[in-house]
Amino acid sequence: MTAEWFDGLNSGRLLLRSCPSGHRSRPDVLACDVCGALDLGWAEARGRGVVVAIATDHSTKPFTNLAIVELDEGPWLTTRVEGAPVERGQEVVVGYEDGEGEAYPVVTASS
Ligand SMILES: [Zn+2]
Repeated sequence: MTAEWFDGLNSGRLLLRSCPSGHRSRPDVLACDVCGALDLGWAEARGRGVVVAIATDHSTKPFTNLAIVELDEGPWLTTRVEGAPVERGQEVVVGYEDGEGEAYPVVTASS
């Protein structure tokens, strides 16, 4: 992850890489997922998606519930689950949470 990504989160914006053709890719890619373009900028995500997988990180106390979310724009993003558990296939809202010094992406169930 890059400084721009964290700066975006810290200002409440979820950013994705955007190529000249308008494809959206995960924030950590070096080339467009779709066309391979290297000239990538940044674009703000709408912050909605669907859970494709869930996992628990047992290295943290308390355990951290993680959700892999397919954003409406296409890219998959690893997020933390806040509040009520989410299930595969569930529509969620992707937001951000202030952590210890840095924000991180979180999901909550979409109503
Ligand atoms: Zn592209």
